[in-house]
Amino acid sequence: MKHQMRAEYRSGGDVGAEATVKTWHMVRGDGTTALCGRDLDERSATRSEREWGAMDEPFCHTCGAVYLREVP
Ligand SMILES: [Zn+2]
Repeated sequence: MKHQMRAEYRSGGDVGAEATVKTWHMVRGDGTTALCGRDLDERSATRSEREWGAMDEPFCHTCGAVYLREVP
């Protein structure tokens, strides 16, 4: 199954390139529900799953654990 990273932002309303990313989560396909169960804004930034672990911002540990069980 294909995954992609999706951003959770520090500020409540701001979403997009100008907003500060708090944590990167992993979602399935184009979904907005992270593997850890958190609902993310559909307008939030996404990145290729290949960039997991390569970004400056923190990564969700729960998403990481679930992701590693779902990818071969
Ligand atoms: Zn997560």
